[in-house]
Amino acid sequence: MRVAVLHGPDDLRLDDATRPDVGPDDVMIRVAAAGICGTDLHFRSMGSRYGRPMPLGHEFAGEVLEVGANVASVARGDRVAYNSYNSPADVGRGGECGGFGDYVVLRGVDSHSQSLCRVPTGLSFEYAALVEPISVGAHAVNRADPKPSESVAIFGVGPIGLGVIMALRWRGIEDIVAFDLSPLRRRRAQELGARATFDPRENAPDAVLRELRGEGSLFGSSYPLTDVYIEASGAPGLLAEIAAFCNKGSRIISLALQRKPVVLDGTKLMSKEISVIGSSGYPTEFPEVMQRLATGEIDPEVMISHRFAFSEFLEAFETANDPSVAAKVLLNFE
Ligand SMILES: [Zn+2]
Repeated sequence: MRVAVLHGPDDLRLDDATRPDVGPDDVMIRVAAAGICGTDLHFRSMGSRYGRPMPLGHEFAGEVLEVGANVASVARGDRVAYNSYNSPADVGRGGECGGFGDYVVLRGVDSHSQSLCRVPTGLSFEYAALVEPISVGAHAVNRADPKPSESVAIFGVGPIGLGVIMALRWRGIEDIVAFDLSPLRRRRAQELGARATFDPRENAPDAVLRELRGEGSLFGSSYPLTDVYIEASGAPGLLAEIAAFCNKGSRIISLALQRKPVVLDGTKLMSKEISVIGSSGYPTEFPEVMQRLATGEIDPEVMISHRFAFSEFLEAFETANDPSVAAKVLLNFE
């Protein structure tokens, strides 16, 4: 079988490997579709976390091919997606297998049956592989808990940011403004329902939001009106910048990896009663997002920028690594 393995920093290879054995408590999944995630790009530049070669890929869906004699929670032929955040198997994040491989084995699956989520009939494996990134966005929105009347600014509309916009839309939020450096990503955000999008290098967010939404004032200073800020870009200094210009009572959701510690002005946090809220993963959202995709309530097609055959994996990975052209890059296994 083929599997993408990280051997060291910037040393990712498509290896030939033997298929893992399936024990009495295990299942084997034949991977049908997988998505390349920003986390995978990070892993590649950092190298393996564990001092040994590391198979990659955690956003995937496929069919159950083999089932151990003791397994009761899944059956051969089931169509499933991997619920990475709720699985101890760590597929593609240091575990035995990776979703960028023809086959994935899950050990002792009955003791963590939430690792796999059924893919409803009629939903493609490709779309099922998108449930993961959309769930990350959905969780960030749940953490912010906006009312339909509230206004949101989102920074960074790669696949995660686009998932945020989808979730905002199904919660009934209409006033969404998005910032991103890439015109292609901004266009996708607009297609999903952002009312306006900007390149923050050309239009300073502080000024844009004042113009669009007006100003509030506190202790003689004025601030742009916006209820929720979602920081999904990881741009250095941005969290501190938002905390400096946001209005009283704003919620700021921190949804990106930050390469360096962020310095926040504690007096501003205090006097403006700002809530800074972290968001990571998707403890509960995965099955709900799967359902919304199955009913057609969300059309995830706009997230997908490229499709590659798995044999072209390395080229697909380079494409995903270029934010000026890529949103979600999908792999199809033949
Ligand atoms: Zn991911």
